[in-house]
Parts: sequence; C-alpha cells; structure tokens
Amino acid sequence: MRSFRQGALAVTAGCVAWLGCEKRGPDAQAIIGALFSGASAEWIDMSHPFDATTIYWPTSQPFQLQVVAAGMTPAGFYYAANNFCTAEHGGTHLDAPIHFAEGRHTADRIPVDQFVGPAVVVDVSARTEGDPDYRVTVADLEVWESRNGRIPDGAIVLFRTGWGRYWPDRARYLGTTLTGEAAVPELHFPGLHPDAARWLAAERKIDAVGIDTPSIDFGQSVRFESHQILFAANIPAFENVASLDRLPETGAYVVALPMKIGGGTGGPLRMVGIVPRSSGARAQTAGGAG
Ligand SMILES: [Zn+2]
Repeated sequence: MRSFRQGALAVTAGCVAWLGCEKRGPDAQAIIGALFSGASAEWIDMSHPFDATTIYWPTSQPFQLQVVAAGMTPAGFYYAANNFCTAEHGGTHLDAPIHFAEGRHTADRIPVDQFVGPAVVVDVSARTEGDPDYRVTVADLEVWESRNGRIPDGAIVLFRTGWGRYWPDRARYLGTTLTGEAAVPELHFPGLHPDAARWLAAERKIDAVGIDTPSIDFGQSVRFESHQILFAANIPAFENVASLDRLPETGAYVVALPMKIGGGTGGPLRMVGIVPRSSGARAQTAGGAG
C-alpha cells in the first residue's frame, strides 16, 4: 500500500504527463523517465496469449506452434526456437481498414501514431448483463462525454462490454462451441451499433477503436456495418482486447502495436495500457471484470 504522500507525488507527475501542461525540456524528460520507470504509472498488458486456448473466428484455423528446437545442442549450450502459424484475425488482433474497405490502409500503411493515444473507456458492462446481443449506442458515448468531456482528438475509444471475463471459455465468449460455417449464425456477443460507428467517424476525430469481444460488430451481425463505416474512414479496430477492467474510463493511454504484415488486413497485436498510479488504484477498487 502506497502512502498518501507517494500517491500525491504520482498524481502530480501524472497530471503533467497526461494533461499536456506547458512542461518542456528537462521537466518533460523527467516525466517521461518516471513514466517508463513505472514510478508514476502502471503498465497494463492488454493482450491475451497466443496458444492452444486462443479464441479464433469459428471459420479460421486455430493458432499453431511447432517446436523446431528445445534442448541442449551437441556444442553444449541450450537452444530453443519455434515456428508459428496464425490467421490474421484471431486472439488480440488488429483489423486494418482494408479488411472491409477497398483501397483503405493495410496493416503496414497505418500511420504509427494511430496506434498510440489517450484511452476513452466506454463501460457498458452493466447493459450487457443478460443481453449478449447488446450494441453500444450513441447515447452510451454521450453519457461518457457528459461525465468526462468531449472525446479528445486522437483518442483510442475502447468498448468495455465485460466479455473479457469469459476468455478463454468459447461457449460463453462466442455463444457457441461449434466451428466452421455452422457456428456463424450461433454467435452471440456484444458489439458497436452502426449509428454509433457513424457518429464516431463523422463527429469526432478518433485514431482507432477497440473492444473486448471477437468483433466490433455484434455476434448476430450479417453485414458488419460498423466495420464498413469505420474502415471507410481509415479508422482501424482492435478486437479481443484484454484487461479493459484495469483501465479507468479516462486518464489512461494505450500503445497498440500489431505485427507489421506487408499488405496485411490485420494481425496479432501486443497492446499495453499506461495508467497513472492514482486512477489505476481507483479502477482496481471499482473492481469488476472485462
Ligand atoms: Zn478482425
């Protein structure tokens, strides 16, 4: 347990770092140093591991790991290496705009500054209770803004549905344990309503969106309209995002770095959140999962 004094120091450093005060030069350097040392912020791992349990779209191949070497060599040193094979769209991953919008950015063409930004966490986990087909509405976004102010330019808007707590239970996370085409009509999980996607693309200047379900369109979607709308505007998406319950609804930043696949429509993603120590503690106290 940190003392109040330590907490207050962390808050002070955090405010400067997060709110972009006029600090420059050595002060800014000190703040960045504190950030990367973990003194004023906590780094949160927001990716699920890629292994035999990783959830993929029911029509995709699961993750495959082939051990090439693991053991002592004749020369007397230990050596280990693997091959892996994966669909672009499985586990915690990027959807590049080209995935549903011809001519838009491929994974390698997305400007790198779109992968980092202030995290806007829209918590609808209370609304998805008993409603796996829930879709995040414009009203949900307006509620967030009424509490926290306008969604900042360059934000990464993350939808916390609470589904992360079901990972890696396929039955609960996807709504079905079937695989192949037969599984698709059985999919039930929350997503983003196309009206909300349209509002974000037209009315705000966001860098990306993310969600703790397999898709930004809900499980019962057949036209994937939210994908079409956002990707036409070159706004990428992150899917199967982990640990959204550990981020406060405002005040954190995220860094989401996908594999740079040339011409890729998406790819495996390592995502981290940076939470100021003060609000990180608040988020944990609030509890919940997702
Ligand atoms: Zn995808």
